[in-house]
Amino acid sequence: MDSLLANGTLNATLVSSDTYFGIYNELSKYNIQLNIFERLWATWYAYMQNDVLATGIMSFVMHEAVYFGRSIPWIIIDQIPYFNKYKLQGAKIPTMKEQWTCTKLVILSHFTVELPQIWLFHPMAKSCGMDTGVPFPAWQTMAIQIAIFFVLEDTWHYWMHRLFHWGFFYKNIHKIHHQYSAPFGLAAEYASPIETMVLGAGTVIIPIIWCLVTQNLHVLTMYLWITCRLFQAIDAHSGYDFPWSLHHFLPFWAGAEHHDVHHEQFIGNYASSFRWWDYVMDTESGPEAAKKRRERKQAKLAKKAQ
Ligand SMILES: [Zn+2]
Ligand SMILES: [Zn+2]
Repeated sequence: MDSLLANGTLNATLVSSDTYFGIYNELSKYNIQLNIFERLWATWYAYMQNDVLATGIMSFVMHEAVYFGRSIPWIIIDQIPYFNKYKLQGAKIPTMKEQWTCTKLVILSHFTVELPQIWLFHPMAKSCGMDTGVPFPAWQTMAIQIAIFFVLEDTWHYWMHRLFHWGFFYKNIHKIHHQYSAPFGLAAEYASPIETMVLGAGTVIIPIIWCLVTQNLHVLTMYLWITCRLFQAIDAHSGYDFPWSLHHFLPFWAGAEHHDVHHEQFIGNYASSFRWWDYVMDTESGPEAAKKRRERKQAKLAKKAQ
């Protein structure tokens, strides 16, 4: 309850019922200023009577729901011949057996590696001043913060991913993720636990540092950010590039077309969400980038010869 009452906006006379909707009705009577989502949220914390458990369960369920919820449409699309023409590596449709093998490892890692870390999240968030109460922040605040996290995470991801492609790290850590040279949605988190922790830090630790510095972050913003980031990662592994895919409208957005080449070629295209790091560092992958590189080299040589 501490977290909810901390900002003084919630009426304290609410917990005489012990069912979720009983609490919801009482809370609604005394807190008409809250919208329905804020009431559901506040009721959850009041009902649980244990903030660590309340955040932990909510985080884990959210992660599973978003991860598999977003992967299922891709599994269905794989079964529909109409979509084959949009598949980046044409003939390489993953079999159900492959997808099931991948799912088993992903679930195992969710329960053994991610669950204990999710449990540490609430105390860590609280100690750095993250807000878990109601009302929620304005959507504009959330949108700006999420955009900043996208840019920072992409930078972290680019350099760490590049590091993972160095001999020792590749052989011992990152090789697992490259088992599928034609990726599919579910393979987004198919990786060594060390990789999950290092690359996951870009998603979780960056907002925590942000919170420490600015003292302005709500855990809901964190959830929305993680949801967006999961969508980005799963879609990047989907193996499909549609005419309506985001990078056709936002040329700096990486998307599946960018990451699929990384899995196919094993080299280049290290960034997660955007294309600028690979462009600036000259690590773009694929035949088109190789052609441009060759042309640049020839132009340089011709200039030297003059
Ligand atoms: Zn890689
Ligand atoms: Zn990948």
